[in-house]
Amino acid sequence: MTQTTSNPPNSAVHENVLGAIGNTPIVRLNRVAADESAEIFAKLEFTNPGGSIKDRIGWWLLEDAERRGLLKPGGVVVEGTGGNTGIGLAMAAAVKGYRCVFTVPDKMSEGKIKVLRAFGAEVVVTLTVPPENPENYCAVAREIARKEPNAFYIDQYNNLANGDYHYRNTGPEILRQLPEIDVLVAGLGTGGTLCGTGRFLKEQNPALKVIGIDPIGSILYDMYTHGKSGPAQPYLIEGIGKDCVPANIDFDLIDAVVQVTDHQGFSMTRRMLKEEGIFAGVSSGSAVAGALNWLREEGQGTAGLKVLVMCPDSGSRYISKVYDDDWMTANGLLDELNGVSW
Ligand code: PMP
Repeated sequence: MTQTTSNPPNSAVHENVLGAIGNTPIVRLNRVAADESAEIFAKLEFTNPGGSIKDRIGWWLLEDAERRGLLKPGGVVVEGTGGNTGIGLAMAAAVKGYRCVFTVPDKMSEGKIKVLRAFGAEVVVTLTVPPENPENYCAVAREIARKEPNAFYIDQYNNLANGDYHYRNTGPEILRQLPEIDVLVAGLGTGGTLCGTGRFLKEQNPALKVIGIDPIGSILYDMYTHGKSGPAQPYLIEGIGKDCVPANIDFDLIDAVVQVTDHQGFSMTRRMLKEEGIFAGVSSGSAVAGALNWLREEGQGTAGLKVLVMCPDSGSRYISKVYDDDWMTANGLLDELNGVSW
C-alpha cells in the first residue's frame, strides 16, 4: 500500500499551508465520559489550517484529479458546497493556482459565502430545492462543469478518491497515534471519513468496530437497518445525515449506524466546551453523543474499550446557533427546558 501523507509526522516547517494538513491531535474525554467503563478519545480536526477535516480531501481531490489528467494548469474546480469542503478546496486551489466556482443553496449563511469569496472563489447562490430539481445546487454545479472549458466537478459524495484519502492517510495516522483503538466512531456525511478510515483500520484489526452516527431525520439509519426509508425530515445538526446514500458509504463495512437527536447533539457540543474545554462543532458533539448511545446499547461488553470519535470542525462556525441561548431556546434545545439527557 502506498501512503501519501501531505506531511511527514514531525516536520516543523512546511513548503506551503497544505503541508500543515493532518497529524491532528487526539485528546481523551474525561468528564463527559465519566460514567463510561470504556475510554473515549476525540480526534480534533479543527486544528487543520482551514479549520476542518475537509482540508484533507480538498487537497487530495485536486491531487487525484491532476494525477488522472482531469485537472490541468488553468483548470477550474467546481463543487456544490457552502461549507467545509468549499474552504478545503479553495485553500488548495489558492496554493495550486486554480479558479474555483462553488454553488451554494440560499439557506446557507452569508458569512460562509463571504469566506469562500475571500479565498478568491466565485460563488453562485442557488435555490434550496431537492436534488431532482435542475435548480438544485449540485445540479447547477454539474451543469457549470459541463459548460466551462477545463472544469472538473469534484462530486465529494460520489468521488471515491474521498474515501481513498482517508484509507491512505487518516487510517495510518490514527494507527500511529492510538494503536490500541477498538472502536472508530464518525458522523456520516459523504461517508468518506468513516468508511475510508474504517476500511484501513479493519484491515489491520478485523475485530475493530466501525460505528456511523446519523441525525434523526436523515435516511441513512433506516437504509442501513431496513434497506429502505421514507423521505428525509428536517433536522438542525449540520454536516451529517443525507437524503440519499452516497457512493462513499459502504454499509458492509459498518458495524452499526446509531441515531442522535438534535437535542443530544447540541447539548453534548456545549458540554464538550464547558467540561472538556474543547471548542468543537455540532457534528462533533453529535458524534460523541452517538458514541455514548452506542455504548449504552451495547451494555456490558464495552468495559475497557478504546473508542475514538472523529470531531470534524470547530465551534467557531456555529456561534450564532449552539452558543446563542436565544436561538437554542427558540429551537427547544436548552437542557433546562428539555431535561438533561446525560
Ligand atoms: N461534520 C461536518 C461539519 C462536515 O462538514 C462533514 C462533511 N459533510 C461531516 C461531518 C461528515 O464527514 P464525511 O463527509 O467524511 O462523512
